[in-house]
Amino acid sequence: MKKAIVVGSGAGGCMAAREIALRGYEVTVFEAGHDFRPLELDLQRLEFARKAGLFLDERMIELLFPAMRIQKGQVGLVHVTGRAVGGTTTLATGNALRYDRYLTNLGIDLNEEFAELEREVPQTTEHRANWSALTERLFATFEQLGLAPQVTPKFMEDPTRCVTCGKCVLGCRYGAKWTCDQLLVGLDGVTVKRGAKVERVITENGKATGVVVQRGPRRETHPADLVILAAGGLGTPVVLEASGIPTRPTLFVDPVLCIACRWEGAHLDTQLPMPFVSEQPDYILSPYFDWLSFYFNKQWRMPSSDIMSIMIKMADTSAGSFDGHHLDKPLADKDWEVMAGAVDKVYEVFEAMGVPRENTFYGTLNAGHPGGCLPLSRAEAHTLHHAALPANLYVADATLFPRSLGNPPILTIMALAKKVARIATNS
Ligand SMILES: Cc1cc2nc3c(=O)[nH]c(=O)nc-3n(C[C@H](O)[C@H](O)[C@H](O)COP(=O)(O)OP(=O)(O)OC[C@H]3O[C@@H](n4cnc5c(N)ncnc54)[C@H](O)[C@@H]3O)c2cc1C
Repeated sequence: MKKAIVVGSGAGGCMAAREIALRGYEVTVFEAGHDFRPLELDLQRLEFARKAGLFLDERMIELLFPAMRIQKGQVGLVHVTGRAVGGTTTLATGNALRYDRYLTNLGIDLNEEFAELEREVPQTTEHRANWSALTERLFATFEQLGLAPQVTPKFMEDPTRCVTCGKCVLGCRYGAKWTCDQLLVGLDGVTVKRGAKVERVITENGKATGVVVQRGPRRETHPADLVILAAGGLGTPVVLEASGIPTRPTLFVDPVLCIACRWEGAHLDTQLPMPFVSEQPDYILSPYFDWLSFYFNKQWRMPSSDIMSIMIKMADTSAGSFDGHHLDKPLADKDWEVMAGAVDKVYEVFEAMGVPRENTFYGTLNAGHPGGCLPLSRAEAHTLHHAALPANLYVADATLFPRSLGNPPILTIMALAKKVARIATNS
């Protein structure tokens, strides 16, 4: 039986592993993290620490919640990724949106893959019955302002289990949210090795022959006939570089900024995050209670139930890199211009809700959709195999995206990974 290695168990990795196993390969997934556990600390104790100002730096989260990894870049931009079985989907708010227009522009057709995903992955818009009066009012205000809000489809394993605790990003404790590790449940032929960080791919005579893995104090070598890298937009470039395969300084991250105000009894903290989305050129807007800002941003020092907040998520310029230690992600003038336009739009919403802009405050600038460091071009539209890679080494995550989507990428990453896995097992 042929052996395949998949690096990373996030959206791309689990999907690729599943497809390859279904084609008869023996698949080993190496995952740097461990089994995911939602943040289960007593939130009252956290509240005590927050009020006492003990949360000084976002990187402290990792001590309480090891599945959430934080890197800090320029202008205080806080980069959030997941490190656990299930990757960053364990932290996701479950938005299931298709955004493949930039791939389509290159000639990459993912229609078949998206159609299959509709059958294979639970997605629903049936959460509106749980919306609060404030969420409905926000939706109506967005409509009034011509912002064309759309109810967000959500990856939900079992919507009836959702208690609208509002803490999807801290991990779902109720089994309501679907995460991509579900793709491997009950599947024969896939073994997930936890706490196993792949250092590099071994190549000989232009072929990948295996990987070098760091597991605790041990360094192991594992052979393979096929290697798929899906360690995420920040992880995959690090493995490629360590393997002697240069990447490009074209990192995008989709910066996020929340604008908030004091609104007594808003209870956005106990609502489904991002219940609807307004898509604008280069950014999206959505109601979102930002736990990162709540714990680490001094301006958010008020009861969580009394904060109303709207998220801006924007497509940024492809510029930057990550070497495993230092994250270089500058924002270009154009990025600041897009952000300024989006901020004005949010002020319009607040003003229509009766909140003057001087009563609003910002959240912490953060990001969680990295990718773009080995972008596909038109020439690779049919092979999905970058020219820089040995024949039996593929990438199956957002590293391949030609530019930022400015939108939730999980569904599109899974569709691309599905296709990559098919091509890789046919070649
Ligand atoms: C708070 C938050 C909320 C989000 N919400 C949404 C949402 O609602 N909808 C949406 O579409 N997107 C959302 N995203 C983005 C989305 O979760 C990610 O873009 C997506 O999961 C990326 O998939 P991936 O497979 O490329 O990488 P990941 O899911 O990040 O998985 C990569 C995995 O590889 C592992 N890894 C890294 N390096 C190595 C190595 N060297 N060896 C072994 N393993 C390694 C990591 O530990 C990780 O588990 C959100 C992101 C954040 C931060």
